[in-house]
Amino acid sequence: MPYFDNNATTPLWKVAEKAYLDASRNHWQNTSSPYRSAARARTLFDRDREWLAALLGCPADSVIFNSGATEGNNAIFNYLAAKHSGDARVVVSTIEHPSVLEPARAAFPGRVDYLPSLSSGVADLSELSKFLENPNVALVSLMAANNETGVLQPWRECLKVCRRKGVPFHTDASQWLGKMPLDGLGDCDYVTTCAHKFGGPKAVGFILIGREEVGFKSQLGGAHEKGHRAGTENLPGVRSMVAALKHVYENLEETLSDQRARRDAFEKTLCREIPGTRIIGGQSERLWNTVHVAMPKYANTRWVALLDKRGFTVSTGSACATGKEGPSHVLAAMGIESEEAGRILRVSGHWDSSSAAWNGLGAAMAEALEELNRSKSSAEGPMVISI
Ligand code: PLP
Repeated sequence: MPYFDNNATTPLWKVAEKAYLDASRNHWQNTSSPYRSAARARTLFDRDREWLAALLGCPADSVIFNSGATEGNNAIFNYLAAKHSGDARVVVSTIEHPSVLEPARAAFPGRVDYLPSLSSGVADLSELSKFLENPNVALVSLMAANNETGVLQPWRECLKVCRRKGVPFHTDASQWLGKMPLDGLGDCDYVTTCAHKFGGPKAVGFILIGREEVGFKSQLGGAHEKGHRAGTENLPGVRSMVAALKHVYENLEETLSDQRARRDAFEKTLCREIPGTRIIGGQSERLWNTVHVAMPKYANTRWVALLDKRGFTVSTGSACATGKEGPSHVLAAMGIESEEAGRILRVSGHWDSSSAAWNGLGAAMAEALEELNRSKSSAEGPMVISI
């Protein structure tokens, strides 16, 4: 599959599509309604919740279905801000997704402490204990894996420190769930996720809440999800998400070793064939599907366009190039200069990406470089590298 932007979103697995359609056709009733067909839908819903809880190692009551990670991240910071006094603070890493950073700043204005990033892309926990000396810390939030670089974060270590200090810990596991082993995830006080990063449908996900958080409310207006999140339940979405998760976890061991080897071979060839190429976060443990690569020259938008022309979809990995915001805050946190950031591509493979697909991408990149060099030499005057 020449689609290499799976950290942005993934295609639906066939089993997930089937589960979605089956629930939409046969179990479309409102799961709260008082008749047998609705009760059958409710049974499926409850069964999915139990399966998910068993997968994650937490009680079924801890699983709250919702519309995904942005909703979950907002809900957690808003809930904690309402629960605690005006002195409460939160600790977040500088490399979090904007759906963590923005609600943290909005709900705790001027009361956010930051865990910086090392140049390796790993969050630096050395200041954590110092931050936790303050008795008013309501939450520490560290993502499980970074969406841009794929670098795995020390969330288990962070959880341990928080446990010792009695401070709740949240991890945004959007890029971890469906790609990595799950040990320890069910022990976190809050976990946020979304289904569309592992072959489930868009706008479906769940939050895990700690055993003590009986008062957690993310949306008002009904008793759904035991009062934690009002709104008619999305049975087709949940069935489809669970089908996708079953599929990826049944095959995870094989995926991990095969895909890591394919990705590593791709990186090796790329660095050999295109001298000056640099793998960002290359010295760190990363998601098996992600390559964040600084090309030696030319703006990333030009690379993306030429690869797209050849049938390979990759991303710039920084919001900057999609015209939404400034340069990536993740790269800035890692100390990467904006000139280099403008040459960075994010390649994120699929569970089924074949060796031929990875090799094809490598060949397409070499061809794209030739085309870029030709267009440079045929252009009049010195070439301006636009970033
Ligand atoms: N957190 C991370 C790490 C992500 O990669 C994403 C998706 O890009 C999100 C949160 C937002 O997820 P959703 O699309 O479910 O709102």
